[in-house]
Amino acid sequence: MSDSLRDGLARNYLAGSWVEGDGGARLAVEDPGTAQDFIDVAMAGEATLARTLEAARASFERGDLADLQPSARGRLLLRVAREIRAIKAEGAEILCRESGKTLDAARDEFEEAALYFEYYGGVADKIEGKSIPLGPDYVDYTIYEPHGVSAQVVPWNFPVSIAARSLAPSMAAGNATIIKSPELDPIALALLGTALERAEVPAGAVSILNGIGGDLGARLVASSEVDQIVFTGSVPTGQAILRAAADTVTPSLMELGGKSAAVVFADANLDGLMESLQSGIFFNAGQVCSAMARVLVHRSIYDEVVARAVSLADGLTVGHGLDNPEHTPVISATQLSRIEALIATAGQDGARIAAGGARLEREGHFMAPTVLSNVNPNARVAQEEIFGPVTCITPFETEAEAIAIANGTEFGLVAGVFTRDLARSHRVARKLRAGQVFVNEWFAGGISTPFGGIGKSGFGREKGLEALYNYVRTKNIAISL
Ligand code: NAD
Repeated sequence: MSDSLRDGLARNYLAGSWVEGDGGARLAVEDPGTAQDFIDVAMAGEATLARTLEAARASFERGDLADLQPSARGRLLLRVAREIRAIKAEGAEILCRESGKTLDAARDEFEEAALYFEYYGGVADKIEGKSIPLGPDYVDYTIYEPHGVSAQVVPWNFPVSIAARSLAPSMAAGNATIIKSPELDPIALALLGTALERAEVPAGAVSILNGIGGDLGARLVASSEVDQIVFTGSVPTGQAILRAAADTVTPSLMELGGKSAAVVFADANLDGLMESLQSGIFFNAGQVCSAMARVLVHRSIYDEVVARAVSLADGLTVGHGLDNPEHTPVISATQLSRIEALIATAGQDGARIAAGGARLEREGHFMAPTVLSNVNPNARVAQEEIFGPVTCITPFETEAEAIAIANGTEFGLVAGVFTRDLARSHRVARKLRAGQVFVNEWFAGGISTPFGGIGKSGFGREKGLEALYNYVRTKNIAISL
């Protein structure tokens, strides 16, 4: 590993410098594939946070990003994209080890991060205002301004790409940004600081701090120095952050959990469905907010779908992420126990464990790929986010019943429709209560398609042009001539 990458390995990136944090506090980071600690990281405390907030405010007041020519800001983002690609190979190995995901997935994650910077680099000079006609005696126009200091709290399942998903539009809009990395896998995200440094992002315009959510994260979002909060993570944490934001009346963006359903009609292409199921619920061991956590299947093909799902789950190769298997560990011992405890409730609610159902007896935190069949739509396993490699299959008779079941949770992140009937796919997609609907391919879409939730899945949108407008505020200027 190159020396400059090593600098960023275990430190906080504070306004262009690598700092240790307060009082020498360090946090051990585990490899979920071996259940062994393999590295530790310097933690930021109250004093470091205070310095970071001051540096971010000063950067914003100086206009480090906001006063750059928009096209120059765009070119800066393109340089960040290039530097992310330059650290991709080494960064991906760290990300693979700290998160448990495959090396290929970790590389894809760095690539996706680079794509966000390219996309928002391309739109930095296209944040256009509006002129509003008020008659001959007035000139009236609306402009978009950056919020100021954007505080961004990132989850552990895709730390690098989710951070980039919010940081790139935040920078494109001219904000100063402070990122709080996830405590379970902070290292690869800290390396993003190296890319920012090499791209010559002005010091203070972006900082990345490591720390525990309930401590550093809570202090960051409660600070009156913060002008915007961007949170991606679980519902309870989102609710705690919203309560803090209520005190300071800080605009917030909430990207929370899900319990997304695929609705599979009798005419669906089942080979395609199985490919979608594999990526939808077994990729990253199901630790994906938009996972295919529920599969609602027309009664006429129900037995066949269950049998094919079982053979898919039972046939996946399992191993350490570095070996690129089809199935990888979950993030922690705590998460593994949580998943098992939820599965234990399935039987009481009448479901059948058709595949998996328990941890795998091997080194690391491995949960068997699990298929629950005959799941009652109101059962706990069908209502709560499991965040593991567990899908719930439920039969339905009519289109209306399928829509009611799909919409019958407190979440509304994504949903899916599998059918060859074009009219039906449009009709059902419109009725599904979700921020994004996939037809015939789970995870269709990409970085330019708006993404975000309804209900307890949150509010605001990330990705695409829509997202840009979360990172600016509207100002109207009305001139009497
Ligand atoms: P989490 O809520 O436990 O933690 C997320 C982040 O919040 C971490 O950085 C954590 O340190 C921090 N945090 C914890 N308590 C805090 C507090 N009181 N104040 C401020 N920050 C605090 O979530 P997680 O376990 O890291 O991630 C999994 C969850 O994230 C799942 O529910 C998943 O669905 C969701 N998620 C949503 C999206 C999306 O785009 N909608 C994407 C990925 C993950």
